[in-house]
Parts: sequence; structure tokens; C-alpha cells
Amino acid sequence: MCGVIGVSGVPDASRLAYLGLYALQHRGQESAGIMAVGAAHPAKLTRAMGLVADAFSESGLEALPGDAAIGHTRYSTAGSTVLANAQPFLVDYHAGALTVAHNGNLVNADVLRDELVREGAIFVSNSDTEVLIHLIARSSAPTVEGQIRDALERADGAYSLVIGVGRTLYAAVDARGFRPLFVGRVEDGLVVASETCALDLVGASNMRELQPGDFFRLHDGQLTELAPLTPRRVTRCIFELVYFSRPDSTIFGESVDRVRRELGRQLARFHPAAGADVVFSVPDSANVMALGYSEVAKIKLEHGLIRNHYVGRTFINPTQRLRVEKVKIKFNAVREVIAGKSVVVVDDSLVRGTTSKGLVKMIRAAGAREVHLRLGSPPITGPCHYGIDTPNREELIAATHSREEIRAHLGVDSLEYLSLDEMIDATSRETKWCHACFSGDYPTPVQLTLGAIPSVPELLEVAP
Ligand code: AMP
Repeated sequence: MCGVIGVSGVPDASRLAYLGLYALQHRGQESAGIMAVGAAHPAKLTRAMGLVADAFSESGLEALPGDAAIGHTRYSTAGSTVLANAQPFLVDYHAGALTVAHNGNLVNADVLRDELVREGAIFVSNSDTEVLIHLIARSSAPTVEGQIRDALERADGAYSLVIGVGRTLYAAVDARGFRPLFVGRVEDGLVVASETCALDLVGASNMRELQPGDFFRLHDGQLTELAPLTPRRVTRCIFELVYFSRPDSTIFGESVDRVRRELGRQLARFHPAAGADVVFSVPDSANVMALGYSEVAKIKLEHGLIRNHYVGRTFINPTQRLRVEKVKIKFNAVREVIAGKSVVVVDDSLVRGTTSKGLVKMIRAAGAREVHLRLGSPPITGPCHYGIDTPNREELIAATHSREEIRAHLGVDSLEYLSLDEMIDATSRETKWCHACFSGDYPTPVQLTLGAIPSVPELLEVAP
């Protein structure tokens, strides 16, 4: 998953992009980058591994002058964790500097890449986003917009994009609308960002959400709506609301806070825990879910787990060994709240079961009499091919184990999930959702993504 931001028609655009990236840090903590360009300043790019705070310095931002900028925070879902895959990508294009920042995952990237390599294209990364750049550059359409449109129509899967051609920015969302993207006004300029919380931070007004298939041009503070992409069945990602987006954002027309609260209420309505004394969340994504649960169940809400905010998300580090260690670094239990009590623990989702198992151990060690785990989403039984970092099927505990096996493995007294309908009922029924990771109902062909992504040296060996 990733966060993207674009700034057009604002002096020192890179500074605004930098600020906005702070509000998108939760969408990707592996690498960060900003490209800036101005009428008198050629496009320049800074990319670094790690957090936004570490990736840029005062002098680094000073070296990025101009009134247009594009920023990105990355959390790899396609391609490996190396600087070569950090975004934005910046290349030389016939119409000027071409910059791409991408949130999402293309499901046909491997096939397209194969074709491109056969035609002689050479790749510098193994990111699916680089495929888009080649498609744009090689399109035979007569205009820049036509070339970008061509590429977007050939790409299948999830993309919310900010593309720069010189100082002109383009914002686009794939026709299924998997990932969010917003535009707002700042002074005389415009800002595009993955979530409204980033637009809030930079003081944007007149915010609007790009709808599935929207393709906009931003230049010198002017927004032009280009013809939309070919319509497809809309499938917004429900996991954005369950887990990924920040509760202070409004995405897909819904307040994330409101939906999460309702998920918690649904849990209390349909999955009560008789005789429980207190309820608390696994912070932070489930905080308001526990609040909703407490409201309906009339059980006292407590802070039973404390999260250390100076540690990144548990899943960031992709090795099992480090993931287990990190659980302990990230959380601790509050003995005072827990000792001798029957507790309801609310979390948004269960993925591998690793974090939860560690947490339950901690909660028991803090003296809980009973532990009832409640999950604000159904069992995750399939991987996401559209940009959420869910692991392969074999690693998904609910794909290979029964509810009772998981309950015993986690060591809880009871384990309950929301059903698909109970989860969807917490959202506005008007939105059409992608819930493939829960239901197996994938809105695109997915077999195309499953091949191993070639490493760059391997690819150069096979390139003609
Ligand atoms: P686990 O117990 O190992 O299955 O981890 C469950 C925890 O991971 C929950 O607290 C979720 O909030 C969190 N989570 C769910 N999906 C993701 C994801 N794609 N990346 C990182 N964390 C996640």
C-alpha cells in the first residue's frame, strides 16, 4: 500500500508535499520520495528508504524548488524493498520530465512487462509502476494525455495515480475505484492526496473525491476534468475502511471513524461476550471499534493495551522472526486494567495470527480471567492483489484453519468475527465493495499477478 500526494501552482510545492506525506505515513513506511519542478527549475527527485521524517532534511527540501511537486510513501506489495523501487519514478520523456506516484497494484503488470521486455524495454526496478511509464512512453497516441490514457486503459487492477509531465499534473483512479484519491484547493493552487487527512494537514478547502475512472489535469491551479476511463464494475476496497485509512479521513464518501464505530456496534449486537467486565482495543486501528462495542454492550471501555508509537507497523518487516520480536516492542498490557477481569479484546482483523497470539499471551500474563477476541471483519481467506499487504494464502491463518483451531491456537476463551453481511451493513449500502480477501470474489482475473516478479539483473540477462 502507498500514499500519494501532488501539488500544483503553489510556491515551494515540495514543502507542502512533505507536510502532506506526514499524514500519509501510515500508508507506507518503507520509503519516501518527492519530485519538484518549476518554470525555472528542472525536475529534481529525492527518494530514501525509511520514514518521511528521516528521508528529507531542510537542505534536501531547499534543493527541491518549484511550484509543482509529487510525493510518495511506499509499503511494498509488488516489487522488493529496495531503493530502486522507491517512488516517485522520474524519467526523461519527449514532453519533459515524466513523474509517476502510484497507490495500488496492477494485476497484469507481469504480462505487460513481459511484452515490453520482448519489445526491447529495459527496466531499472521490479515495481509494477515502471510498467506504466513504459506504456506511456511507447503509446502511439498523438498527445501526452492520449498516451497516458492509453497506458491507463491497458493497465488492469488498482491504481490511484499522480503523474507529472513537466509542471502539469494528472490525477487518475482506475475504473473500479479500488483506492481513494482526493483533490482540494490550497491558496491559488491544488493538492491531490490519497486521504482527506493529508488535505486537512495542508489546509486545503473545497475537497472532492475522485470517482472511479476519473482522469483530471492540474495546471497552474486549474483543474480540468478529462474524459473518464472506460467504465467497469465499481469495487471499492472495504479494507480501507476496516483497517487501512486513518479514522480522521473520509473516504469513498464515508467517515472512517463512523464506519469503524459501527463495526464495533455490530460486534456487540451479533457477537456479545456474556459476563465480560471490560472491553478494550488493539490500538490504534480498532480504537473506535471498541468504543462502538462498549456503547452497545454497555461494558466499560478501557485502555488495556498500550502501543509504542515509535515503532512502525508490525507487518513492515517481512521476516517472520523479526515480526514476532516486534509484537513485544510494540505493545504492552496494563495489569491494573486487566488483572482478575473477563476482557473483550476488539481488533479489526486477523491475518497471520502472529500479533494476536503474542497479545493474548501478554493479556493472560497481566492476569485476565477470561479473554474474548472480537474481530471487526470476517476471516481473511485470500490474498489481496490490489495493494494491501496481505500474505500468501498459506500464511493466512483463516485460510487453513477452522475457527475452533484458531481459537485454541490463540489461547482465547471465545473468538468471533463479523460476517460479510454484518461488515457491509456497517457501511453505506450504496457503495459497491471489493471484499475479495474475505469472500474470494475477485473483481479482476488474478492469476496474472502470481508469477514471481523478476529481479532487475535477471531481467537484464533475458532482455533482447
Ligand atoms: P495477526 O495477529 O498477525 O494476524 O495481525 C493482526 C493485526 O494486523 C491486526 O491488529 C490488524 O490491525 C493488523 N493488520 C491487518 N492487516 C494488515 C496489513 N495489511 N498490514 C499490517 N497490519 C495489518
